[in-house]
Amino acid sequence: MTSTQPPHAGDVIYTARLIRTANPSQPTATAIAVRDGKVLSVGTLEDCQQWGITTIDRQFEDKVLTAGFVEAHSHIMTGMYSNIPYVGWFGRHMPDGSWVDGVKSTDELVQRLASIAATTEPGQPIVVSGFDPIYLDTERLSCHHLDEATTQHPVFVFHASGHLATVNSFILQKYSIEAGHPAPGVGFDKNGQPNGELREPAAMALARDEFRLIGQVVFSLETIGHFANAMRNAGITTAADLGNNFHAKDESLEEVLNATRIDSFHVRVASVPRIIGGPPAMHEFVEKVQEARTKTHDKMHIPVVKMVLDGSIQGFTAVVNWPGYFTGEDHGLFLLPPEQVVDYLRPFHQAGIGIHCHCNGSTTSGVFIDAIEVLLREHAWLDHRHTITHAQLITQAQMRKAKNLGMSANFFVNHMWFWGEQHRDITIGPDRAAAMNPCGTADRIGLQYAFHSDSPVTPANQLHTMWAAVNRATPHGDVVGPAERIDVNRAFHAATIDGAYQLHMDHLVGSLEVGKYADMTVLEQDPYEVDAMAIRDVQVWGTILGGVPSKSTAQR
Ligand SMILES: [Zn+2]
Repeated sequence: MTSTQPPHAGDVIYTARLIRTANPSQPTATAIAVRDGKVLSVGTLEDCQQWGITTIDRQFEDKVLTAGFVEAHSHIMTGMYSNIPYVGWFGRHMPDGSWVDGVKSTDELVQRLASIAATTEPGQPIVVSGFDPIYLDTERLSCHHLDEATTQHPVFVFHASGHLATVNSFILQKYSIEAGHPAPGVGFDKNGQPNGELREPAAMALARDEFRLIGQVVFSLETIGHFANAMRNAGITTAADLGNNFHAKDESLEEVLNATRIDSFHVRVASVPRIIGGPPAMHEFVEKVQEARTKTHDKMHIPVVKMVLDGSIQGFTAVVNWPGYFTGEDHGLFLLPPEQVVDYLRPFHQAGIGIHCHCNGSTTSGVFIDAIEVLLREHAWLDHRHTITHAQLITQAQMRKAKNLGMSANFFVNHMWFWGEQHRDITIGPDRAAAMNPCGTADRIGLQYAFHSDSPVTPANQLHTMWAAVNRATPHGDVVGPAERIDVNRAFHAATIDGAYQLHMDHLVGSLEVGKYADMTVLEQDPYEVDAMAIRDVQVWGTILGGVPSKSTAQR
């Protein structure tokens, strides 16, 4: 039998060497029919042709199509590297597809800053980003190092974690950041003088103009477009901007609504407002979210809200349980008073709005899980999917409880490569490093989870996160926590349908099933067939979004 429905304009069948659907009831196929931007049929060419479609596009016949990758925790800020020089330790692709080598020493950083200073008007700010001090064997970066690059410009070095900045003496003087400055997060040397470190947004905002410059770049229409390119280049078809300030700034909502409507904008955005302000303002916040949701469209969704409870492990600002950090000073910092978390979250939970909470440390994971337990005792909601994002140091007891409460975890498993050795040797020691981002245990316990890059903290690339979860390998060839490794099939689902579930978008994206958006990642090789250590080397051709192909611009 063939369908009696008349064809629609634009109906097309794509054929491929292999299609991986992320739908366990039909895991593979070789053809997919698209109608009105949605999946009409998945199967063989003959299956698809029964819909009467005569347009067959064979350009992907030698390629592998997969359910489009879903990145449930990234930031539009990813696009900033088009305008702000990148100075991280690992080389990486910029949003336009170009490649920048890593900065391997403090001296190299000073040289790069000095060369920028040479072409910058004195007094004009020099802002760079992605700096990763934990890899440098040298003394910790301070204002004195930056003063070697220039004393004529304010220099603001934004760190890879996004939680820290180091500034030069010009900035310290400009904003009167002196000995005894009372703001929490201002770093001092052993003589009590400021050392140029500013931890967490409140302290970084002391460098008002320079910090604002990052904010301005982050919300420009141009940056949002660069974000879409970076995601498409990585094969990602749905990406969250996890933590924006829409409820406070109507303009930034309009910017994203407008940018995402453009035809060439090639990614679906899950735009996620960040909870700030005090508990009394939360009801108003809920109304703002509900109102903003009425303006969304196919490529722009506001599925959940985000809260941030602590800092980063490598910055020693995540709040960790006893016995605390392995080496170094304990700067664990609650960004909200833990005893108020329930009051902050109650209005969202009661309104049926899912919550993603940034918890890097074990203490903060516990605080969030306990808060959800209180809220669920007050107000039943079986399908909340509240998600612990990062959940890097979540304990087994916390995972069992989170599972029982119907929660999810979004693991920052890229850390095993980017900082796994540092966590083992410096931040938290071998026991907890081996149990970080515990995908294996989560599977054994039955806790639902996905993966993220937190781009720009690490590069958005779900093939890399899959590779990290499968291998847990470090740059020196060690394996940190072999018992937490998972297989490629599990990792593929964590990079697709599981992320969609956490965003309450699994009815729309995350797998190739009839009626969902025809969003696909186009790969040159099959990640299931290559050697496990080569998963991250699989080449991305580009994506298909709503049935429309778009080729990557990444340099290989
Ligand atoms: Zn983040």
